[in-house]
Amino acid sequence: MRLLDALLELVYPSRCAFCRRLTGGGQLCKSCAAELPRTEGALQRQSFPHVELCVAPLYYEGDVRRSLLRYKFGGMRHYWKIYCEFLSKCVDGNEISCDIITWTPLSRRRLRRRGYDQARLLAEGLAARLGLECAPLLKKVRDNPAQSSMGGAARRRANVSGVYAALDPERARGKRVLLVDDIVTTGATLSECAAVLRRAGAKSVSAAAVARRRDQ
Ligand SMILES: [Zn+2]
Repeated sequence: MRLLDALLELVYPSRCAFCRRLTGGGQLCKSCAAELPRTEGALQRQSFPHVELCVAPLYYEGDVRRSLLRYKFGGMRHYWKIYCEFLSKCVDGNEISCDIITWTPLSRRRLRRRGYDQARLLAEGLAARLGLECAPLLKKVRDNPAQSSMGGAARRRANVSGVYAALDPERARGKRVLLVDDIVTTGATLSECAAVLRRAGAKSVSAAAVARRRDQ
């Protein structure tokens, strides 16, 4: 891991993951540390069907949005590290207790194309920071059109219905699961995944995402 970090540092010499300015060390510059659109207080928390509590530290707009797009589609997979700092503070601050961490998985086709599962990197990074177990508990059984291409909430719900299945019900049974994703929009994907986990026997499902929409 150290070697990988060192190599990444050569390729991407300490640029801010949000505004891309040189930072002189680290992935967050001083101005972004002060000015990123952070959620605060009750606005960090949302609830969705089957999801006890969903937290997100940032709003999906401006440099946060551009950063997450580079993370998902621009190959900037090393951004998981700075995102996990925000995530772990937010999970801690909202006193979410869980036994196991998992993530909303990509389809095999998208995983092949992208080369990495952006939500998995976040889940693993968060689990390492919190000292918790991380395991794949879900699989995508149908390749649906991207949620971002869907208009209304009803269409988004229909688009994810039946798309996920439990991968390892034994490991989910009786556990408080924390489900990790990069962005939460209407919560349709998180709700669907949480329903699958509850049916598989999970005691409860909470969720954490790097960023949320301000208007949802
Ligand atoms: Zn910055």
